[in-house]
Amino acid sequence: MYDYLIVGSGLFGSTIAYRLKKLNKKVLVIDKRNHIGGNVYTENIEGINVHKYGAHIFHTDYKDVWDFVNSLVPFNRFTNSPIARYKDEIYNLPFNMNTFSKIWSDVITPDDALRHINEEKKCMEGKTPNNLEEQAISLVGTTIYEKLIKGYTEKQWNRSCKELPAFIIKRLPVRLTYDNNYFNDLYQGIPIGGYTKLIEKLLDGVEVKLNSNFFDKIDEYKKISKKIIYTGPIDEYFEYKYGHLEYRSLEFDTKVLDTSNFQGNAVVNYTGNEVKYTRVIEHKHFENSNSDKTVVTYEYPRDYKDGMEAYYVINDEKNNKILEKYNKLKEKERNVIFGGRLADYKYYDMDDVIKNALDIDL
Ligand code: FAD
Ligand code: UDP
Repeated sequence: MYDYLIVGSGLFGSTIAYRLKKLNKKVLVIDKRNHIGGNVYTENIEGINVHKYGAHIFHTDYKDVWDFVNSLVPFNRFTNSPIARYKDEIYNLPFNMNTFSKIWSDVITPDDALRHINEEKKCMEGKTPNNLEEQAISLVGTTIYEKLIKGYTEKQWNRSCKELPAFIIKRLPVRLTYDNNYFNDLYQGIPIGGYTKLIEKLLDGVEVKLNSNFFDKIDEYKKISKKIIYTGPIDEYFEYKYGHLEYRSLEFDTKVLDTSNFQGNAVVNYTGNEVKYTRVIEHKHFENSNSDKTVVTYEYPRDYKDGMEAYYVINDEKNNKILEKYNKLKEKERNVIFGGRLADYKYYDMDDVIKNALDIDL
């Protein structure tokens, strides 16, 4: 008999497993994939740690979370500074003085940038932004919206920016300094040797079964464990009783190239709609690998269908209403703890997931 069955070996499930191991509990972790780590899984190809499910940069303001992960594996001091490519023009991200001075050739000082932005956002005067397009124009004006936001966002979400909620774009910093750091958080880095090392440390000494889907043997799993930690999709757990929640999916096209430096940066965003992918990741730049080859991944946004990976939740009104109903059912489910991005149906960064897993009552 196990004290706990943990469904999912992603960051949430693995952090809980680590805590339970310290409490001397008998734990079984299962995952339907053929590897541990969920979406942070990295695989070594040609001496390069490849982020198999998209670029993952660890960033946090939680000192306890940063101390916790650093107590397990060493982190490097990587700073995420993606480049935006619009046709054959190159810009710095997030939107900062480097971006503004390239967009408007007469911009040198923050006042110069503000003059242009204020002029371009006049159409929004007195209005509260009601959608992503209006929010973006209020933040950075029409030129940057047209070149660096509209195409990227519409590819990513397959919806017009006029129909998307404003909050999506609020995640991105806008700065009147020459600072290309994508994140505002105090701590940032990549685990040296890849994220799989971090997960291996979390799961060290814990029994793990891969290629094992909870729903294939649900009664058996319930019989062999006193409590369950469930980190899979919440709608699936309740057999889609109130309908399917919607997600966006992604397709990754990964290639090994016989060149040592393909694009000169870990992440290049393609912000126009003439190319169908949103980003190209060159993995070696996360850890300054000196391999004489390189591995690149083209990231294509996709509509989500059953059987695909659910990457991005869509927290619009329709889905949030369905979620509320599932959340009520959760309360009645005794002996099951739900957590992680799929069971909570929330966009979580890695640090949020670890924070929740460290703080939750077991
Ligand atoms: P997951 O990693 O999804 O783990 C859930 C696990 O449960 C999976 O392994 C799955 O196979 C398993 N599972 C599900 N159902 C079952 C079942 N029925 N039976 C058995 N197993 C099951 N965060 C950052 O902080 N920085 C970034 O730069 C960043 N970049 C990202 C880029 C992309 C493209 C995406 C999609 C996310 C990114 N994130 C980033 C977010 C990050 O990936 C998540 O916060 C984190 O991985 C969530 O961990 P989790 O354990 O909740 O979920
Ligand atoms: N975004 C954009 N242009 C870019 C990068 C991001 O317009 O070059 C917008 C887009 O709407 C995206 C949102 O900002 O959905 C959040 O971007 P982030 O990089 O946080 O997305 P993620 O890494 O979660 O895919």
